[in-house]
Amino acid sequence: MTQTTETLAEFSLVIGGEQTTAASGATYDSVDPYTGKPWARVPDADATDVDRAVAAARAALQGEWGQMTPTARGKLIHRLGEIVAREAEYLADLEVRDGGKLLREMVGQMRSLPDYYFYYAGLADKLQGEVIPTDKPNYFVYTRHEPVGVVGAITPWNSPLLLLTWKLAAGLAAGCTFVVKPSDHTPASTLAFAKLFSEAGFPPGVINVVTGWGPATGAALASHPGVDKIAFTGSTATGIEVGKAAIANMTRFTLELGGKSAQVVFEDADLDAAANGVIAGVFAATGQTCLAGSRLLVHESVADALVEKIVARAATIKLGDPKDPATEMGPLSNEPQYQKVLSHFACAREQGATVAYGGEPDERLGGYFVKPTVLTGVDPSMRAVAEEIFGPVLAVMTFRDEDEAVDAANATEFGLAGSVWTKDVHRAHRVAAKLRAGTVWVNAYRVVGPHVPFGGMGFSGIGRENGIDAVKDFTETKAVWVELSGATRDPFTLG
Ligand code: NAD
Repeated sequence: MTQTTETLAEFSLVIGGEQTTAASGATYDSVDPYTGKPWARVPDADATDVDRAVAAARAALQGEWGQMTPTARGKLIHRLGEIVAREAEYLADLEVRDGGKLLREMVGQMRSLPDYYFYYAGLADKLQGEVIPTDKPNYFVYTRHEPVGVVGAITPWNSPLLLLTWKLAAGLAAGCTFVVKPSDHTPASTLAFAKLFSEAGFPPGVINVVTGWGPATGAALASHPGVDKIAFTGSTATGIEVGKAAIANMTRFTLELGGKSAQVVFEDADLDAAANGVIAGVFAATGQTCLAGSRLLVHESVADALVEKIVARAATIKLGDPKDPATEMGPLSNEPQYQKVLSHFACAREQGATVAYGGEPDERLGGYFVKPTVLTGVDPSMRAVAEEIFGPVLAVMTFRDEDEAVDAANATEFGLAGSVWTKDVHRAHRVAAKLRAGTVWVNAYRVVGPHVPFGGMGFSGIGRENGIDAVKDFTETKAVWVELSGATRDPFTLG
């Protein structure tokens, strides 16, 4: 518990449409990573509050929300999108205070959220079942897509509302209700966002939010027998724990986890564009994105030229106040993350990497600032190449031909994203097909949208969010068999 004499912004849990404290009355303070000081006080919910939230979500499912037509649901989701558009600056400000990301990035992110709600609002009444022609003439068979039920959504600190929206918009369209557990480091925006539901006209209990310090609140949600599906985004280590807890109750789950994505630059690439893409991939958001392009694989003939361009740009990246429009990189989001990145700097040196740029905190700024970092002379056995750092650290390796490039890109347990930089259209598609990753960009990086599935292979996760199919992931498919003849059949044979 952090002590402070400053006036703190106060936030409440949202359970069953009510703003409420934790049953125990406990709170904790959220720290602004730019100032290093507490700025907000939020409830420290425990398993009792999770029980209350799950019960409220179940009641909504069995009540007014569950009775609503899909068309009516779609209208509410659309209205929510309009309200989020109106509140974009406010919500962005909360995320900057909690997480330290750039205001300009977060305003852009918040302004993109309505597009997800509009996209899925339109899908709400298009979840059609099928009539299935079978080989049994006496049966009429059709399918129904029913809401999976109560969804527990657990989100990380790097983009709280964007990653919640990737679950929520599709899940609401399918008719589910939600209990949301945002990261303990970034609770404020989700608590504020949940209050918008009543204005949009949602019945109480469709969204419920529980915040709590440490892993206990999320663990209580992941292991709750009253939850029908867990939609989790976070680290691979936690995702595995969440998956184990869910399967013990036969709760369905999707896991959006970490990454160590490769940007593959061929000798014919536009090196200025590639350098810009590499910067966007690993230094934007201070490298704290799951899809960070943290491994650069570059053809040996252009490696020096490309690294020179990247280092030159890294040296001019403006670090500072996340709210200053001129700032390009803010602080790391929290103290544990800062310590983790510093330990990777030390380890990279110990293991023999060459620091081409950075590799240290930015002392002028104090707080949780580190310099954008470029490591050369690395190999796959080093931790900086093998592990997700979740900070602004690029590991550079070279290759001699296409096969070597593909093998090196795929030499990771992760499989979230990757890129191919080349002007050769044949090679672009050939390599895109061979990369083992859920998303591959060609001559681009860090572009996402509601229409396009996103998710990982391997240790980057299970399942996809976004796109048309994501709605079906929030449904159970039921097959209905209707006997047409009225005749009596032999009860001891399978029909
Ligand atoms: P984290 O795994 O530490 O925490 C994620 C969430 O899980 C938080 O809300 C946390 O409180 C909760 N949690 C912690 N322990 C839990 C437990 N035992 N049971 C249930 N919930 C628990 O991750 P983080 O540090 O908040 O976020 C960074 C990670 O998220 C990175 O690995 C990053 O790659 C990943 N991420 C993935 C995607 C994606 O779409 N694949 C997107 C963003 C971030």
